[in-house]
Amino acid sequence: MPVDESNPLKKAAELLQKAKYAIALTGAGISVESGIPAFRGKGGLWESYPVEEYATIDAFIANPRKVWNFFRDLYDTLGSAEPNPAHFALAKLESRGILKSVVTQNIDGLHQKAGSREVIEFHGNASSLRCLNCEMVIPFEECEAMSAEIPVCSCGGLLKPEIVLYGESIPVDSLMDAQDEALLCDLMLVIGTSAQVVPASMLPLIARQRHATIIEMNLGQTWLTEHYADISVFGSVGSTLPEVAHLILGDYIDT
Ligand SMILES: [Zn+2]
Repeated sequence: MPVDESNPLKKAAELLQKAKYAIALTGAGISVESGIPAFRGKGGLWESYPVEEYATIDAFIANPRKVWNFFRDLYDTLGSAEPNPAHFALAKLESRGILKSVVTQNIDGLHQKAGSREVIEFHGNASSLRCLNCEMVIPFEECEAMSAEIPVCSCGGLLKPEIVLYGESIPVDSLMDAQDEALLCDLMLVIGTSAQVVPASMLPLIARQRHATIIEMNLGQTWLTEHYADISVFGSVGSTLPEVAHLILGDYIDT
Protein backbone atom coordinates (compact mmCIF):
# COMPACT_ATOMS: atom_id res chain seq x y z
CA MET A 1 0.00 0.00 0.00
CA PRO A 2 1.68 3.30 -1.05
CA VAL A 3 1.97 6.09 1.51
CA ASP A 4 -0.89 8.53 1.13
CA GLU A 5 0.05 11.76 2.91
CA SER A 6 -3.35 13.30 2.22
CA ASN A 7 -5.25 10.50 3.93
CA PRO A 8 -4.26 10.11 7.59
CA LEU A 9 -6.34 6.96 7.95
CA LYS A 10 -4.53 5.16 5.14
CA LYS A 11 -1.20 6.39 6.37
CA ALA A 12 -2.02 5.14 9.87
CA ALA A 13 -2.85 1.71 8.42
CA GLU A 14 0.39 1.57 6.45
CA LEU A 15 2.56 2.55 9.41
CA LEU A 16 0.75 0.10 11.66
CA GLN A 17 1.31 -2.68 9.17
CA LYS A 18 5.04 -1.89 9.02
CA ALA A 19 5.49 -1.51 12.77
CA LYS A 20 7.46 -4.18 14.60
CA TYR A 21 5.97 -3.51 18.02
CA ALA A 22 2.72 -1.56 18.00
CA ILE A 23 0.68 -0.91 21.14
CA ALA A 24 -2.50 1.03 21.90
CA LEU A 25 -3.29 3.42 24.72
CA THR A 26 -7.04 3.85 25.18
CA GLY A 27 -9.26 6.14 27.21
CA ALA A 28 -12.92 6.92 27.83
CA GLY A 29 -13.50 7.96 24.21
CA ILE A 30 -13.35 4.38 22.97
CA SER A 31 -16.20 3.29 25.25
CA VAL A 32 -18.59 6.17 24.62
CA GLU A 33 -20.06 4.28 21.67
CA SER A 34 -20.71 1.37 24.04
CA GLY A 35 -23.02 3.61 26.05
CA ILE A 36 -20.52 4.53 28.74
CA PRO A 37 -20.41 8.32 28.97
CA ALA A 38 -17.03 9.87 29.68
CA PHE A 39 -17.02 10.45 33.43
CA ARG A 40 -16.19 14.12 33.13
CA GLY A 41 -18.32 14.90 30.11
CA LYS A 42 -21.90 16.01 29.89
CA GLY A 43 -24.13 13.24 31.19
CA GLY A 44 -21.06 11.65 32.77
CA LEU A 45 -21.20 10.07 36.19
CA TRP A 46 -19.42 12.99 37.83
CA GLU A 47 -22.41 15.21 37.09
CA SER A 48 -24.50 13.16 39.51
CA TYR A 49 -21.66 12.11 41.78
CA PRO A 50 -19.11 14.85 42.46
CA VAL A 51 -15.62 13.33 42.54
CA GLU A 52 -14.66 14.68 45.94
CA GLU A 53 -17.83 13.26 47.56
CA TYR A 54 -17.88 9.87 45.84
CA ALA A 55 -14.69 8.91 44.11
CA THR A 56 -11.97 9.31 46.67
CA ILE A 57 -10.75 6.59 48.99
CA ASP A 58 -11.26 8.93 51.96
CA ALA A 59 -14.90 9.51 51.00
CA PHE A 60 -15.43 5.75 50.72
CA ILE A 61 -13.95 5.01 54.14
CA ALA A 62 -15.84 7.92 55.74
CA ASN A 63 -19.19 6.94 54.27
CA PRO A 64 -19.23 3.56 52.50
CA ARG A 65 -23.03 3.46 52.40
CA LYS A 66 -23.18 6.68 50.37
CA VAL A 67 -20.34 5.72 48.02
CA TRP A 68 -21.85 2.29 47.40
CA ASN A 69 -24.85 4.11 45.83
CA PHE A 70 -22.40 5.49 43.30
CA PHE A 71 -20.77 2.07 42.77
CA ARG A 72 -24.17 0.46 42.14
CA ASP A 73 -24.99 3.09 39.54
CA LEU A 74 -21.57 2.47 37.99
CA TYR A 75 -22.26 -1.28 37.85
CA ASP A 76 -25.64 -0.64 36.21
CA THR A 77 -23.93 1.45 33.53
CA LEU A 78 -21.11 -1.03 32.97
CA GLY A 79 -23.33 -4.11 33.15
CA SER A 80 -25.37 -3.13 30.13
CA ALA A 81 -22.36 -2.13 28.01
CA GLU A 82 -21.05 -4.24 25.15
CA PRO A 83 -17.84 -3.79 23.16
CA ASN A 84 -18.22 -1.68 20.02
CA PRO A 85 -16.47 -2.07 16.64
CA ALA A 86 -13.43 -0.14 17.93
CA HIS A 87 -12.83 -2.70 20.70
CA PHE A 88 -13.32 -5.56 18.24
CA ALA A 89 -10.91 -3.99 15.75
CA LEU A 90 -8.15 -3.84 18.38
CA ALA A 91 -8.80 -7.44 19.42
CA LYS A 92 -8.60 -8.56 15.81
CA LEU A 93 -5.38 -6.61 15.21
CA GLU A 94 -3.89 -8.32 18.26
CA SER A 95 -4.99 -11.80 17.20
CA ARG A 96 -3.36 -11.23 13.80
CA GLY A 97 -0.09 -10.16 15.40
CA ILE A 98 -0.30 -6.49 14.34
CA LEU A 99 -0.84 -5.15 17.86
CA LYS A 100 1.09 -6.36 20.91
CA SER A 101 -0.94 -4.94 23.78
CA VAL A 102 -3.53 -2.45 24.95
CA VAL A 103 -2.92 -0.11 27.87
CA THR A 104 -6.21 1.31 29.05
CA GLN A 105 -7.41 3.97 31.43
CA ASN A 106 -10.87 2.39 31.37
CA ILE A 107 -12.34 0.15 34.04
CA ASP A 108 -15.12 -1.34 31.94
CA GLY A 109 -13.43 -4.58 30.87
CA LEU A 110 -14.68 -4.12 27.29
CA HIS A 111 -11.30 -4.82 25.68
CA GLN A 112 -11.23 -8.27 27.26
CA LYS A 113 -14.89 -8.81 26.41
CA ALA A 114 -14.04 -8.08 22.76
CA GLY A 115 -11.24 -10.63 22.83
CA SER A 116 -8.10 -8.62 23.59
CA ARG A 117 -5.69 -10.71 25.64
CA GLU A 118 -2.80 -8.44 26.53
CA VAL A 119 -4.58 -5.70 28.44
CA ILE A 120 -2.88 -3.50 31.02
CA GLU A 121 -5.39 -1.65 33.19
CA PHE A 122 -4.13 1.51 34.85
CA HIS A 123 -7.25 2.12 36.89
CA GLY A 124 -8.21 -1.41 37.80
CA ASN A 125 -11.34 -3.22 36.74
CA ALA A 126 -14.82 -3.24 38.23
CA SER A 127 -15.22 -6.98 37.62
CA SER A 128 -13.90 -7.85 41.06
CA LEU A 129 -14.04 -6.57 44.62
CA ARG A 130 -11.21 -6.38 47.11
CA CYS A 131 -11.47 -6.45 50.89
CA LEU A 132 -9.77 -3.41 52.40
CA ASN A 133 -8.88 -5.49 55.46
CA CYS A 134 -7.68 -8.96 54.36
CA GLU A 135 -7.08 -8.09 50.66
CA MET A 136 -9.17 -11.03 49.48
CA VAL A 137 -10.38 -10.57 45.89
CA ILE A 138 -13.88 -11.75 44.98
CA PRO A 139 -15.28 -11.77 41.43
CA PHE A 140 -18.26 -9.40 41.28
CA GLU A 141 -20.51 -12.14 39.86
CA GLU A 142 -19.78 -14.44 42.81
CA CYS A 143 -20.04 -11.87 45.55
CA GLU A 144 -22.98 -12.80 47.78
CA ALA A 145 -22.35 -9.72 49.90
CA MET A 146 -23.56 -7.52 47.02
CA SER A 147 -27.12 -7.87 48.29
CA ALA A 148 -26.17 -6.02 51.48
CA GLU A 149 -26.41 -2.25 51.60
CA ILE A 150 -22.72 -2.10 52.43
CA PRO A 151 -20.98 -5.24 51.08
CA VAL A 152 -18.50 -6.64 53.59
CA CYS A 153 -16.03 -9.51 53.48
CA SER A 154 -16.37 -12.61 55.68
CA CYS A 155 -13.59 -11.06 57.80
CA GLY A 156 -15.75 -7.99 58.40
CA GLY A 157 -13.66 -5.68 56.20
CA LEU A 158 -15.19 -3.30 53.67
CA LEU A 159 -15.41 -4.55 50.09
CA LYS A 160 -14.54 -2.11 47.34
CA PRO A 161 -14.58 -2.56 43.55
CA GLU A 162 -11.01 -3.08 42.33
CA ILE A 163 -10.99 0.29 40.63
CA VAL A 164 -8.49 2.96 41.53
CA LEU A 165 -10.18 5.81 43.36
CA TYR A 166 -8.68 9.26 43.72
CA GLY A 167 -6.18 9.15 46.54
CA GLU A 168 -5.22 5.55 45.77
CA SER A 169 -2.07 4.68 43.88
CA ILE A 170 -2.00 3.11 40.44
CA PRO A 171 -1.17 -0.62 40.81
CA VAL A 172 2.62 -0.84 40.58
CA ASP A 173 2.53 -3.87 38.27
CA SER A 174 0.31 -2.06 35.77
CA LEU A 175 2.53 1.00 35.89
CA MET A 176 5.69 -1.01 35.28
CA ASP A 177 4.11 -3.08 32.51
CA ALA A 178 2.80 0.03 30.76
CA GLN A 179 6.18 1.74 30.96
CA ASP A 180 7.86 -1.37 29.56
CA GLU A 181 5.46 -1.41 26.65
CA ALA A 182 6.03 2.30 25.98
CA LEU A 183 9.80 1.67 25.95
CA LEU A 184 9.49 -1.31 23.61
CA CYS A 185 7.02 0.06 21.11
CA ASP A 186 7.92 1.60 17.78
CA LEU A 187 4.32 2.73 17.24
CA MET A 188 1.68 3.86 19.70
CA LEU A 189 -1.97 4.30 18.84
CA VAL A 190 -3.54 6.77 21.25
CA ILE A 191 -7.28 6.19 21.07
CA GLY A 192 -10.14 8.08 22.67
CA THR A 193 -7.98 10.06 25.05
CA SER A 194 -5.96 13.24 25.04
CA ALA A 195 -3.56 11.47 27.43
CA GLN A 196 -3.07 14.55 29.52
CA VAL A 197 -3.51 12.97 32.94
CA VAL A 198 -0.61 11.35 34.77
CA PRO A 199 0.41 8.53 34.52
CA ALA A 200 -1.11 7.89 31.08
CA SER A 201 0.41 11.14 29.84
CA MET A 202 3.91 9.76 30.38
CA LEU A 203 3.48 6.97 27.87
CA PRO A 204 3.39 8.94 24.61
CA LEU A 205 6.29 10.97 25.99
CA ILE A 206 8.38 7.86 26.72
CA ALA A 207 7.53 6.39 23.32
CA ARG A 208 8.31 9.64 21.57
CA GLN A 209 11.70 9.90 23.21
CA ARG A 210 12.43 6.44 21.80
CA HIS A 211 11.42 7.73 18.35
CA ALA A 212 8.23 5.72 18.17
CA THR A 213 5.49 6.91 15.83
CA ILE A 214 2.48 8.33 17.64
CA ILE A 215 -0.88 7.97 15.92
CA GLU A 216 -3.76 9.76 17.56
CA MET A 217 -7.33 8.62 16.93
CA ASN A 218 -9.83 10.96 18.52
CA LEU A 219 -13.11 12.66 17.66
CA GLY A 220 -11.38 15.96 17.08
CA GLN A 221 -8.23 17.88 17.89
CA THR A 222 -6.66 17.41 21.31
CA TRP A 223 -3.56 18.53 23.10
CA LEU A 224 -1.75 15.60 21.46
CA THR A 225 -2.44 16.89 17.97
CA GLU A 226 -0.09 19.82 18.49
CA HIS A 227 2.46 18.18 20.74
CA TYR A 228 3.10 14.51 20.08
CA ALA A 229 1.03 13.08 17.28
CA ASP A 230 2.77 12.27 14.00
CA ILE A 231 -0.61 11.51 12.52
CA SER A 232 -4.08 12.44 13.76
CA VAL A 233 -7.08 10.50 12.54
CA PHE A 234 -10.24 12.37 13.49
CA GLY A 235 -13.73 10.93 13.68
CA SER A 236 -15.68 8.34 15.63
CA VAL A 237 -13.26 5.54 16.55
CA GLY A 238 -16.11 3.05 16.13
CA SER A 239 -15.75 3.81 12.42
CA THR A 240 -12.12 4.78 11.94
CA LEU A 241 -10.51 1.85 13.79
CA PRO A 242 -12.43 -0.84 11.88
CA GLU A 243 -11.46 0.98 8.67
CA VAL A 244 -7.79 0.90 9.63
CA ALA A 245 -8.08 -2.78 10.54
CA HIS A 246 -9.85 -3.49 7.26
CA LEU A 247 -7.09 -1.80 5.24
CA ILE A 248 -4.51 -4.01 6.93
CA LEU A 249 -6.36 -7.29 7.26
CA GLY A 250 -8.58 -7.18 4.21
CA ASP A 251 -10.99 -9.87 5.19
CA TYR A 252 -11.63 -8.24 8.52
CA ILE A 253 -15.16 -8.25 9.90
CA ASP A 254 -16.05 -6.31 13.00
CA THR A 255 -17.77 -8.94 15.11
ZN1 LIG B 1 -11.60 -9.58 54.29
